[in-house]
Amino acid sequence: MLIKTVLNRLEHFKSFVFGAVTFQTVNGSEALIIEIKARANSKPECPECGKRCKKRDTLPTRLFEYVPFWAFKVFFQYSPRRAACPVHGIKVEYMPWAYGKERMTTSYKVYLARWARRLSWKETADIFQTSWESVYRAVQHVVEYGLANRNLDSITEIGVDEIKVFIGHKYLTMVYQLNAGSRRLLWCGMERKTKTLLRFFHEFGKERCQNLKYVCSDMWVPYLKVIRKKAPNALNILDRFHIMKKFNEAIDQIRRGEVKLFKAESQENVLLNGRWLLLKRPENLNEKQTTRLGELLKLNISSIKGYLLREDFQRFWEYKYPAAAEKFLDNWITRTLQTNLEPMKKVATMLRSHKPLIMNWFKAKGLLSSGAVEGLNLKAKLTMRKAYGFKSPECLKMALYHTLGKLPEPLCLHIFS
Ligand SMILES: [Zn+2]
Repeated sequence: MLIKTVLNRLEHFKSFVFGAVTFQTVNGSEALIIEIKARANSKPECPECGKRCKKRDTLPTRLFEYVPFWAFKVFFQYSPRRAACPVHGIKVEYMPWAYGKERMTTSYKVYLARWARRLSWKETADIFQTSWESVYRAVQHVVEYGLANRNLDSITEIGVDEIKVFIGHKYLTMVYQLNAGSRRLLWCGMERKTKTLLRFFHEFGKERCQNLKYVCSDMWVPYLKVIRKKAPNALNILDRFHIMKKFNEAIDQIRRGEVKLFKAESQENVLLNGRWLLLKRPENLNEKQTTRLGELLKLNISSIKGYLLREDFQRFWEYKYPAAAEKFLDNWITRTLQTNLEPMKKVATMLRSHKPLIMNWFKAKGLLSSGAVEGLNLKAKLTMRKAYGFKSPECLKMALYHTLGKLPEPLCLHIFS
């Protein structure tokens, strides 16, 4: 079978045909060169208006990198013509396989970008014997196309969250769509300030904001303010995942304080390596850990008291009737405020001041999955971990849109996957 036959199945470029296929040395290695020719009598197309214009002249031959074939690099070879457009002047003609001055074909970019979603960008570059920058440009192209062409209609549920990025106290604000079946990253921006989230709502548009029914968020006050103002028809829900995260932070703070205290008093450190025992739910522990937890629970120390308060609070989510849940919540807050566990008391105060938003969780119960934001966050963190090459926030954002945005791809290469 001829290579041309294979190519014709993959790519159809109106007004162009494939010519000779030869081996040539490119950058020191043997590559497959596929000649492209304009159809006889065809006129070059203006890249601005798409009009077929008179040919002005022909430029020197250029190579456009295509998807590698077996172990060979593949290039299209073409001598672009210049079109004399009556409106736009002299322009290098539109070539359907590549954009502007790009040296990579769109098909190859989409191909690289698909791999870059599964592997790190560096691994992708290594496998395809290309540079990190080429992978970067491929992803950039695909993401820009995807963002410009995605559909933002019928979004009714969103989740807002922040994740720590880079070193120091840098945050990235993440906005997810949470509608079942189309959970994805809608927007991300550096910082977690009022104006950060305002930027999202501004870009999202007034009309779409009016359609929002549920907004899931944590207790971060700047977010709460913006949500109230910009999504007036939505029920703002403080969800289970975010609230339990506060509990874990409090327990961890108590535990760290106690470990320090044991050290200072040269006591036996009973909490040594106890971090995960206290942070995990008991049902997620293995047999050995469960035994160890059992021993810890017999001790009269603050970390354990904090742990027991959290486990007790889990019952809150099981209530069927909001009124009963609210009674339990009030009771739990009162009990906790009577202890001497400062970090836990802070949680209690926070719960009390955000009670209406927490109770909203019951109004939306069953409609919103509490694990959705958590799951998307985990994926985002995984993307960042693979991201040792992401030096700038822009780059990190691009990688996040690429892996979590469910973006539409430029139309080509239906067959590769
Ligand atoms: Zn034109």
